[in-house]
Amino acid sequence: MDFATIEKNASALRPRPNLTNYRATRRVFSYEAVRRELGWQPGGDFNIAFLALERQIDRGLGDKLALRWLGRDGSQRDFTYAALDAEANRFANLLRGLGVGRGERVFALAHRTPALYAAALGTLKAGAVFCPLFSQFGPEPIRARMEIGDAALLLTSETLYRRKVEPWRRELPGLRHVLLTDAEADASTGAGATIALAPALAAQPDAFACADTGPEDMALLHFTSGTTGKPKGVIHVHDAATHHYATGRFALDLHADDVFWCTADPGWVTGTSYGILAPLLHGVTMIVDEAEFEAERWYGILQDQKVTVWYTAPTAIRMLMRLGAEVAAGYDLSALRFPASVGEPLNPEAVVWGKEVLGTPFHDNWWQTETGGIMIANFAALPVRPGSMGLPLPGIEAGIVERGEDGSVTEIAEPDRPGELALRPGWPSMMRGYLHEEARYEKAFAGGWYLTGDLARRDADGYYWFVGRADDMIKTSGHLIGPFEVESALMEHPAVSEAAVIGLPDPVAGEVVKAFVALKPGFAAGDALAKELLGHARKRLGAAVAPREIAFRSDLPKTRSGKILRRLLKARELGLEAGDTSTLESDEKR
Ligand code: AMP
Repeated sequence: MDFATIEKNASALRPRPNLTNYRATRRVFSYEAVRRELGWQPGGDFNIAFLALERQIDRGLGDKLALRWLGRDGSQRDFTYAALDAEANRFANLLRGLGVGRGERVFALAHRTPALYAAALGTLKAGAVFCPLFSQFGPEPIRARMEIGDAALLLTSETLYRRKVEPWRRELPGLRHVLLTDAEADASTGAGATIALAPALAAQPDAFACADTGPEDMALLHFTSGTTGKPKGVIHVHDAATHHYATGRFALDLHADDVFWCTADPGWVTGTSYGILAPLLHGVTMIVDEAEFEAERWYGILQDQKVTVWYTAPTAIRMLMRLGAEVAAGYDLSALRFPASVGEPLNPEAVVWGKEVLGTPFHDNWWQTETGGIMIANFAALPVRPGSMGLPLPGIEAGIVERGEDGSVTEIAEPDRPGELALRPGWPSMMRGYLHEEARYEKAFAGGWYLTGDLARRDADGYYWFVGRADDMIKTSGHLIGPFEVESALMEHPAVSEAAVIGLPDPVAGEVVKAFVALKPGFAAGDALAKELLGHARKRLGAAVAPREIAFRSDLPKTRSGKILRRLLKARELGLEAGDTSTLESDEKR
């Protein structure tokens, strides 16, 4: 057979994209129909983990591979849908035995091990709320989030516990249980007690009657940072599964036989919505890699596991690009049908690189913790516009708006004029609140829109293009960092009188965190102190959040009312004009 025929046959084997007629699908789409497809009857129970596991077993997929786990050391563990369900049931029984009830918060601070996935699903089955934390956070972000979320139980590893939780555990009396994934025996009693997970699970039955949660019951609590104040606990409910399922179909183009790999850590919303839930809701096989990014390892996984749909992030794509196309050429990546990207702006060059090196461009899509799932995407059946985030999903109405001085919100109809990206509320995975912060939640809405905090423009064909953030949030290696949290940690140091934190452009990480500090009298600026402050921040916040660079200033620029002008610092750093003062004044109102 000649090469052209082989290619033709191969493309004939590719499934037809799920969304072939965008406009018609938008017209007829309804979330009600999706819920019906998931087997929901009005007034009936609705539980994400039931839909992800038991429903698949009922559909005859019990023996199908649900999760293939690749260990850092080269080991591999496979879980069928029936086996993963049994593991989740053991965890749910354990929670029940420990008295962790419906709606209580189960936190996870864990590496990507099978135990984490079983715990997430078991927590949902038990009707408790799953709250994942990024294992690279330092003690400070962990403590703040567990306090806000009223943690009842924490699942973590021995090392993470000793280093990051034990020193302050007694300050959280509501935290009743700590389960350690890798401990062999329970330790001590009283407030410092820990439970060894494996023996505790082994003693549990592998059947569990799933909690009779309804669509509006709280299921997930994800944390996101703000520009001011504490992190926000973003509430999501079981009905989020409706949107995860719909977007798995339309935005990620999942088909029954797909092998899906989402590289995000479940400590962030992408790693839960699409790294656990959406693939299982579709009954596909998902790959979980315990290790961190390493180019050859990743190409090896794509090749050996015959990954068909790959959901990754711009920082990783840029790192692969840096190594050159020759590295990729050593691998057979022909199984890969649909590579997608999220979390930060995806450079047009990266989209084109995908086409040249993988044979198919990266499909960028956009969403955030509050939206719970993909809102805007480049779809499999439509031409990709390099640099664009794509079109709104069926069921999603997006717009570009402008906020007036009086707080009013007007939609910008004119194409290509930048404004704030806004969404009409009402989709199932929309946040239902910021935990304990009603006023902050209300502030996110105006004029019938949910305001995203991102600046974007829409072209004449309706494609959305990312412009930047409307606030001072920083995205570094795909992680959203609130400057306030970093500034607060710096301010705890006895030498610091004021701190301001900004993101500076970086060719690989997107942005890197830089801090400016003013010192208290009696302290001298210099390399030794800079090193000490960086060390202090890393210890408190973890390397993923701490600044990379520190600069000393005798004082920091402020508005008339004394608010530090991070933007002015950033503009100066980039050698730009600071912009007119009206922008700076409007900063003050945010
Ligand atoms: P998070 O809530 O941590 O998922 O971060 C959400 C933020 O990441 C968004 O508000 C955007 O600022 C940014 N973001 C997500 N996806 C994209 C994308 N495709 N292009 C540009 N920025 C993105």
